Amino acid sequence: MDIIEKLLDIPDIEIENIELNEKGDIIITVRSTIGITRCRKCGRRSSKLHGHDEAIMLRHLPILGRKTYIRICPARYRCTHCEGKPTTTQKLQWYKERSPCTIAYEKHILLQLVNSTVSDVSIKEDIGYGVVMGVIHRHIESKVNWDNIKRLNVIGLDEIALKKGHKDFVVIVTARDCGNITILAVLNDRKKSTVKAFLSSIPERLKKTVTTVCSDMYDGYINAAKEVFGEDVVVVIDRFHVAKLYRGGLDNLRKKEIARLKTELAEEEHKKLKGVMWLLRKNAKDLVDKESEVLERLFKHSPMLEIAYKLCNDLTDIFDSDISKSEAQVKINDWMDKAIKSGLTCLNNFLSTLDTRMCEIVNYFISRQTSGFVEGLNNKIKVIKRRCYGILNVKHLFQRIHLDLNGYSLFT
Ligand SMILES: [Zn+2]
Repeated sequence: MDIIEKLLDIPDIEIENIELNEKGDIIITVRSTIGITRCRKCGRRSSKLHGHDEAIMLRHLPILGRKTYIRICPARYRCTHCEGKPTTTQKLQWYKERSPCTIAYEKHILLQLVNSTVSDVSIKEDIGYGVVMGVIHRHIESKVNWDNIKRLNVIGLDEIALKKGHKDFVVIVTARDCGNITILAVLNDRKKSTVKAFLSSIPERLKKTVTTVCSDMYDGYINAAKEVFGEDVVVVIDRFHVAKLYRGGLDNLRKKEIARLKTELAEEEHKKLKGVMWLLRKNAKDLVDKESEVLERLFKHSPMLEIAYKLCNDLTDIFDSDISKSEAQVKINDWMDKAIKSGLTCLNNFLSTLDTRMCEIVNYFISRQTSGFVEGLNNKIKVIKRRCYGILNVKHLFQRIHLDLNGYSLFT
């Protein structure tokens, strides 16, 4: 008994009985050695025992691979001070009211959630899906607690498509300060009014600490940020979104050219161009010889594609170089001249974006803020979505990202 009591690691209890039930689970009946509780009405301490509630069974950490339950009849005390002499059930620090598990087991569940979905854990631990969600709800916040935040510094506004075909966006709002990322909200849609309403709800004391807003390339976000934080706030368009746009132009040209070559080239030759989509997207420095050969073959048939490819890589190089904002502005202007002279039309859309959003795009070079974190989340959420439908809910998403930020990396 003494050893088991030590192993249980639950404070202020005495074991009354240990038994196996018909399923072979271990049931440990315990009694609290604390003879007092605080009145729920007046908060004064009372030691006048009124009786015991019905027994509750709390799932605890397994012993020798067997499911283990702690059985306890919570004590009830009567207050002698309050009118009507109300009774209060004793609260103990090792389990939370209405939870079917001990806190030690709940922490175990949170750890089990690393690299797993809620369904995975529910199956492995043989507990209900709802029980796992209950643990998440009790331990992980579903809303930001402003009181815990001292300053915001950089606000990130990024969107994630919850459904294929880029419908049904949610907006992930984060604060990034010296490497710490805090999730502030998951917004239900990406309307400017929704984003603005949330940003306006930030307490005044924290609004003053916002220096930069790092955003997707969407006028609604940029305008909402400026209207809430003032015209002077530095808005940065994330380089990943900039890259997506010019790489998209290259992708469109590739599709057209491959379709053209399919009709013009012999089947054998066309086959040799298999997989060029990935090769064009791959970092040029990471290409192996064989891959470079395929690209060279492609460029021989499509000189236009080679020009577009090189232009895109040049721009990536500019974003990779350690230069100031004004140097970047000069380089990007030169690049625009080259792109216009090339006569390519696939970059027209991107060039006009550069024209209107140059300032926000080169602001990246001030402190190199990026949403790499949210880009990573995007992939994790894709995995979760394939396996667990419960996640498609803004509150759950907030909690999962919160868990992720706390080191419970459960999306991959
Ligand atoms: Zn009382």
